[in-house]
Amino acid sequence: NHLRHVESMAHLPSGAGRITRLNALILGEALASEEDDLVFPSEDFSRHSHVSSPHKYLEMYRRSVQDPAGFWSDIASEFYWREKWSQQVYSENFDIRKGKIKIEWFKGGMTNICYNCLDRNIESGNGDKIAIYWEGNEPGLDTSLTYNQLLARVCQLANYLKDVGVRKGDAVVIYLPMLMELPIAMLACARIGAVHSVVFAGFSAESLAQRIIDCRPKVVITCNAVRRGSKIIYLKDIVDSALLESAENGIAIDVCLTWENDSAMKKEMTKWIKGRDIWWQMFRRVIACMIYVQNSDFVNGHGCLDVILKYPVTCDVEWVDAEDPLFLLYTSGSTGKPKGVMHTTGGYMVYTASTFKYAFDYKSTDIYWCTADCGWITGHSYVTYGPLLNGATVVVFEGAPSYPDVGRCWDIVDKYKVSIFYTAPTLVRSLMREGDEHVSRYSRKSLRVLGSVGEPINPSAWRWFFNVVGDARCPISDTWWQTETGGFMITPLPGAWPQKPGSATFPFFGVQPVIVDEKGVEIEGECSGYLCVKGSWPGAFRTLYGDHRRYETTYFSAFPGYYFSGDGCSRDKDGYYWLTGRVDDVINVSGHRIGTAEVESALVSHPQCAEAAVVGVEHEVKGQGIYAFVTLVEGVPYSDDLRKSLVMAVRNQIGAFAAPDKIHWAPGLPKTRSGKIMRRILRKIASRQLDELGDTSTLADPTVVDQLIALADC
Ligand code: ATP
Ligand code: MG
Repeated sequence: NHLRHVESMAHLPSGAGRITRLNALILGEALASEEDDLVFPSEDFSRHSHVSSPHKYLEMYRRSVQDPAGFWSDIASEFYWREKWSQQVYSENFDIRKGKIKIEWFKGGMTNICYNCLDRNIESGNGDKIAIYWEGNEPGLDTSLTYNQLLARVCQLANYLKDVGVRKGDAVVIYLPMLMELPIAMLACARIGAVHSVVFAGFSAESLAQRIIDCRPKVVITCNAVRRGSKIIYLKDIVDSALLESAENGIAIDVCLTWENDSAMKKEMTKWIKGRDIWWQMFRRVIACMIYVQNSDFVNGHGCLDVILKYPVTCDVEWVDAEDPLFLLYTSGSTGKPKGVMHTTGGYMVYTASTFKYAFDYKSTDIYWCTADCGWITGHSYVTYGPLLNGATVVVFEGAPSYPDVGRCWDIVDKYKVSIFYTAPTLVRSLMREGDEHVSRYSRKSLRVLGSVGEPINPSAWRWFFNVVGDARCPISDTWWQTETGGFMITPLPGAWPQKPGSATFPFFGVQPVIVDEKGVEIEGECSGYLCVKGSWPGAFRTLYGDHRRYETTYFSAFPGYYFSGDGCSRDKDGYYWLTGRVDDVINVSGHRIGTAEVESALVSHPQCAEAAVVGVEHEVKGQGIYAFVTLVEGVPYSDDLRKSLVMAVRNQIGAFAAPDKIHWAPGLPKTRSGKIMRRILRKIASRQLDELGDTSTLADPTVVDQLIALADC
């Protein structure tokens, strides 16, 4: 089905004719509709890209779905396998009606992802290449590690973990901010076959405890404290409370390994439980010199010795089966018990590496920066594994993107000559709101490819990202995927296709997206409905930890035969995919099903609107009405005229049926710590069920809720 769509697109113009559309875009000329707006990569970009044309894409895509075994084993062969996988490259049961859901790729193959990230790249001559540039919260605080140095650090920690009894298959919880020690800890676990479970270091003690109780780790790795912007967060205290809670639930943790982050807090001030708590290092960071020096007479106040740096810098690899678990990652779990998404080794390795290479058109000379935290899947697949498997140089940033000012991102881009910059729409919108001058005062000449993930990117935010940040030169890879999918599912390949602002374009190799109606019937051609996937891909999650039934009911039962993503989506006449938000968020106004993303994009296209979030509220006549929370551009005052013109923007762009019934001024919006708008809370505010707001402590900034309530009737 998808093949037919893209085949009809393959006649797209090429060459000089392309430029006209781009010019129209730069000059801000009106286009008939978003769907007709095509933005082409430059000829030069395409010529040098891995996939340089729709035809090339088509050829590869066709093979990937007609011969998945051949396609993926060719890619897998680029990696080191101690033993090759069995005859059968993959096996799957994707249909709940035929029995248990089961997905296996490269079963029987023995490998190690840490070996493939580090040793393999070192053996091919890249030992002295920078693996990680680390940029601290405070400008000027930075350091770096080559591949050789990274391997040594990983091996020391791996040896330590083995020494305290961590064995293949054991879980290790990592609760660290974006220090280099976070990817180091992930890789150390992978090296010895332990299963890491990174918990985002913004989660509360209760959330951390819940995850510890679920996966029962041998060791918890953390640090004493971290600075985020101008705030200090005492992580070790949070871990202490979480460990208390898990002990009360019968899960006692023997070892809590703690990194001293002395730019935030000194060791001496950290509470300590003898016998359980261990300091990772005895190196003191001397900020003035920007180097690590060993402070040999430093003995911490707790009388326990630093351990990790005494361990050997080499460590044998634990060869694991491709289907042995690599990590658990709990999804944010906005409702109910968090889900422990489990990924295995071989398929995930092959999938993250190849999606990274193609979707960002990665070249060995690139410097890559992804702003995501390793506490989310993006930080697993596209800060750590995908880039390192490709031997890339990665920027790891500890701080907040608006500290000390809103130009920080571009300062970092210029400092490290970042060529691929991958971020989330929420950051794009927040920087757009501050004005272009904070961007244009930096060079940004090194940028080549931009990327977006996490939410649909509104076309107007896309254009700002493209024109202002990328100087109309850098294609944007708007990557649609999920914790569950392991890697990109629908994404532009930047040299192959013209892009449409706001569309994630086409499926990645091997991915067969399907749009179904309420009854689960596949709809062809131009349509909208529920986004599902037919057949497995190597990076797919294999189960929910300890609850395979929940895996099957949540993802495979609604539409038997398919994986159901939970997202709504439409496909336009050219076969481009447009994500419309989660289906739980769809609003039904007088029988019209309206995606929140559509209305929000129309609002954000208004020059005075910085951000918008739309929810449904009960409506006597229409069933549901549209309630919009709107954040204005810095300095714009609230007024009734503005309210009217915002409603007009939606009427003009979508139609009268989608016009918001209420505009609620919002100085800020409640967001999860990964930057997504939490509509659950907005729905309660909209319906004035203020005593049912639920837990707001996991919000990035809980105070925005009070501000919203105060403005409810303005
Ligand atoms: P939870 O499942 O626990 O509620 P979550 O779905 O936010 O959390 P993720 O797996 O990180 O956790 O996010 C995946 C979701 O993010 C997708 O299902 C989709 O709704 C949204 N998303 C991600 N990337 C894009 C994109 N490029 N365009 C549109 N939506 C996107
Ligand atoms: Mg989800």
